[in-house]
Amino acid sequence: MSIIFLNGHYVHEKDARISPFDRGFTFGEGIYEVCIAINGKFVDALEHLARLERSLKECGIDTPPERDELSNIMSELLQKNDITTGLVYLQITPGASPRNFTIRPEGRPTLLMLAQGVDFKRSPAFLDGIHVQMRQDIRWLRRDIKTTMLMPQVMAKRDALSNGVSDTLYYDEYGITEGASSNVFLVDANGTLITRALSNHLLAGCTRARILDLAQNIGLTVEDRPIQLTEFVTAAECFVTSATYLIAPILTVDGVIIKDGKAGPITRLLQNKYCDYIEYN
Ligand code: PMP
Repeated sequence: MSIIFLNGHYVHEKDARISPFDRGFTFGEGIYEVCIAINGKFVDALEHLARLERSLKECGIDTPPERDELSNIMSELLQKNDITTGLVYLQITPGASPRNFTIRPEGRPTLLMLAQGVDFKRSPAFLDGIHVQMRQDIRWLRRDIKTTMLMPQVMAKRDALSNGVSDTLYYDEYGITEGASSNVFLVDANGTLITRALSNHLLAGCTRARILDLAQNIGLTVEDRPIQLTEFVTAAECFVTSATYLIAPILTVDGVIIKDGKAGPITRLLQNKYCDYIEYN
């Protein structure tokens, strides 16, 4: 049983109440963020909070009154749950209103925050890598907004599991967009690192941005363009990034083995650099 933060109060999860008329529930109107902490220190919290603010603005959802306190609440929530390494999840919805498409709630936006202990660096995905499938990206065209409207992702991840792999990469008419909850990178035979440029077609991952910085620091050539579906056949390495995956090597895509089916040297180097960054930033 954990302590959560709901609309200004720290409460036991069993005592928390949200209205059945909350627009997050009735219309799927909601924004979220996931920020990780390593040894009590948050990773890229400012970037996550900036993205949260942007998502709210793009959807016309008011910022909650705790706006300037969010990073303090994040820290306190970890402490109250005795967590040093784990994640904080934040969700904001417009709040409760009669069920009408356009009406604006009179009360405050709903702010829910919860914490969970996770040992990211010991996950099988991080240590051993993942197998993935590719599926057409059936989501909407505002994937730059981090919305709680996650049914396509839930379906894609369940479909992956039922096919014996652990995740799904999405593609559109230009190539790979992103993973169901991650950004996708490919290292080609020349050692060039390729990932899709930012646009409304994908989420601007905070981990993606950090990895691009680290890649440039170690002298890698970076191309921001869509990865073609056929490129996995000749790829030297492949990986996904997210706050919770950190960097997870991709071993196979739709059964195609990437190089020798093991995490490649550039992936391992970036994992090490990123771990240094999150431990000592
Ligand atoms: N794309 C999608 C669709 C995601 O859900 C996530 C995870 N939040 C990412 C990319 C990676 O973003 P981040 O590195 O900020 O966790």
